[in-house]
Amino acid sequence: QRCLSLIKATKCLNAYITVTEDTALRQAEESEKRYRRGQSLGDLDGIPVAVKDNFSTTGIETTCASNMLKGYIPPYNATVVQKLLDQGAVLIGKTNLDEFAMGSGSTDGIFGPVRNPWSYSKQYREKCGQNSHLENEDSSWLITGGSSGGSAAAVSSFTCFAALGSDTGGSTRNPAAHCGVVGLKPTYGLVSRHGLIPLVNSMDVPGILTRCVDDAATVLGVLAGHDPKDSTTVQDPFNPFKLPSVIDVGKLCIGIPKEYHIPGLSSETLKVWSKAADLFENAGARVIEVSLPHTCYSIVCYHVLCAAEVASNMARFDGLEYGHRSNMDKSTESMYAATRREGFNDVVRGRILSGNYFLLKQNYEKYFIKAQKVRRLIANDFVNVFSSGVDVLLTPTTLRDAVPYVEFIKEDNRTRSAQDDIFTQAANMSAFLHNLGGVRNLCLKNIQVLLYSRQSLTSDLYKKIYV
Ligand code: GLN
Repeated sequence: QRCLSLIKATKCLNAYITVTEDTALRQAEESEKRYRRGQSLGDLDGIPVAVKDNFSTTGIETTCASNMLKGYIPPYNATVVQKLLDQGAVLIGKTNLDEFAMGSGSTDGIFGPVRNPWSYSKQYREKCGQNSHLENEDSSWLITGGSSGGSAAAVSSFTCFAALGSDTGGSTRNPAAHCGVVGLKPTYGLVSRHGLIPLVNSMDVPGILTRCVDDAATVLGVLAGHDPKDSTTVQDPFNPFKLPSVIDVGKLCIGIPKEYHIPGLSSETLKVWSKAADLFENAGARVIEVSLPHTCYSIVCYHVLCAAEVASNMARFDGLEYGHRSNMDKSTESMYAATRREGFNDVVRGRILSGNYFLLKQNYEKYFIKAQKVRRLIANDFVNVFSSGVDVLLTPTTLRDAVPYVEFIKEDNRTRSAQDDIFTQAANMSAFLHNLGGVRNLCLKNIQVLLYSRQSLTSDLYKKIYV
C-alpha cells in the first residue's frame, strides 16, 4: 500500500505505464497469509517489484510503449516474470520505456518521457536556483537515461524494491547510472529471454535494477538458470551466491581500459572514475592499464547488426496477430503498410529500413558479414584481457551525468544513441563468450562495475562496488 501511494504521489515521473493495483494487493494479501500461517516463503515473498513493459505478462497489457502493441494482452508470462511470482514477488506495475527499447533516454515512447526523480532533489534544485515542488511543470527536469528509464525511476523513487529492465546495448546500466541505482546486465545465456519482446535477439538480456548490490544478487539468484523455452540459456547449473559481509578486494586485479578515455567524457565522470580506482588501490587491489583496441568499433557494428535483426524481428507486426491494425482496406499489402506506418515511430521505421538495406544481396557481405567479423574481434579483446590475469574492468557507465530533457531532445537522435552506449555496448557484442571454455567466471567478470556519478550517493555505494 505504501508503494502504491508513492506511485500516486510521484505520478509526474511517468515511470509506470500500467499500475496493477488490484493484482498487487491480492498478491500481497496472499503473501501475508503465508507468513501468518508459518508457511515456507519464497526469496521475494511480499516484495513489490516492477517489470519493464516489454516483458509479457498474463492478462496485463504489454505495449512496448508503441501504438503497435497498445491494447495487446499476452496470454503468457515471460519466464523471468513467472520466476519472480513463483518466489512470492508482488507485481506492482509495468514500467515506461523507449518504443521497443530503442533509445537511451526513455524519451521516445508513446506515453511520453520519463522524468528523473533526482530532478526534484534539493541539491539539483539549488543548482538550478529553483525551489519548485514535485508537481511543478518546468523545463529543467532531467532525463532518466534509457531505455529502461521507467524501471530506474521506479526503483529510485522507492515505489518498488526491484525492477526488471532489458539490456541490448546498455539499456539497464545507463538509466541505473543516471538515476543512482544499481543496474546489472547478466551474462547472455544466464537468464531466459522467453517472453522478452526482442530487440536484437543475439544481444538482448533481461536486466535487474535494485537499490543495492545485495538485492541485485538475490534477484539474479531467482532469475538465473536454464530455460527449455530459450535455447540460448546455458545448461550448466547456476549456484546462487550470497555476497560476503566483509569485502576483500586485496586479491583483485582491476583493469582500466586506456581506450575509454575518449572525447566527450565529462570531467565529473572522469573524476569519479579516478576516485573509484584510487579507492580500490587503497583497499589493496592491483589497478593496471589494459587495452581493448576494438571497442571503438562496437557502436558502428551495433547499428548494422541491430538494424538487421530489427528488420527481421519486426516482420511479425503485420496487423494480423497482435495489437494495432489499420482501417486501410484497399488490399492486404496496403493494410500491412498502413499498419506499420501508423504503429511504429520513426526510430523503429528507420531501423527497419536500414536493416533491410544492410541485408540486400549486394550489401550483405559488405555490412552484415563485416560487422559480424568485427564483433568477434571486439569479443576477443575481452578474452585477451581476462586471460591475462585481470579480474574485472572498471569503467564509467555513461560519458556524462543525466542531462535536462530540453537539451537531450535537441541532440540528433542517431548520434546521441551512439554516444550514450559507448562504454556499455561492447559487453552485449560479446554475448557468445560464455561458450568459450577459456574464460571462466565471465558471468561475474562481465558485470560492468558501475560508477555512480552523483556525488551525494557515491561514498555509500563505493563500499558496495564488488563483484
Ligand atoms: N541505445 C541502444 C539502442 O537504441 C540500446 C538500447 C537497449 O539496450 N535496449 O538500440
